[in-house]
Amino acid sequence: MPLNIGVLALQGDFQEHRAVLESLGAAVTEVRLPHQLEGLDGLVIPGGESTTIVKLAHRWGFPDALRHFIDEGGAVWGTCAGMIVMASALLEPEPEPLSLMDITVSRNSFGRQVDSFETDIPVKGVPGGPVHAVFIRAPSVQDQGEGVECIAQLEDGTPVAVRSGKLMATAFHPELTPDTRIHEMFLRLSAGQPSAV
Ligand code: GLN
Repeated sequence: MPLNIGVLALQGDFQEHRAVLESLGAAVTEVRLPHQLEGLDGLVIPGGESTTIVKLAHRWGFPDALRHFIDEGGAVWGTCAGMIVMASALLEPEPEPLSLMDITVSRNSFGRQVDSFETDIPVKGVPGGPVHAVFIRAPSVQDQGEGVECIAQLEDGTPVAVRSGKLMATAFHPELTPDTRIHEMFLRLSAGQPSAV
């Protein structure tokens, strides 16, 4: 049986995630309404515009449904705007994040001068050397609760990927590179193998 993975398809680059996950053998559902979470092993919240994703998530009743999904053992991975959506607090006043993971996040953390950049960083749980990470108006993690582990950081120590149980968040966009190792890690998490991370 393939893993059933959803990609939250309210806004953003959900199609790129879908393509990678399907190439790895997952059965992928584009999730536009909360009832579509039923039966999924994991959900990806893509990059895009966090204000728009949060607004639409509230409109369709996702906040409670996502908390229920996580309580029932579902895995969730947010990339970039998805990390912002998952946060418990933001340094900026908007949007109000959905509080799915105990992290404090700064939006557009890298400022205008360097609003996009690429770099190679090692990621804990990803074998085979550093990952080429693409940052686009990216957030960063400013603080993390107990039980949240930093699995990747920039050279200056800024945390850019975190994991807690079956939840993970990356400030960069693995779906925009040919390297599928982070998606493979999320599939292992969704399959209930957190020790594989
Ligand atoms: N900084 C954007 C936001 O606040 C996210 C950018 C991205 O997902 N590439 O929504």
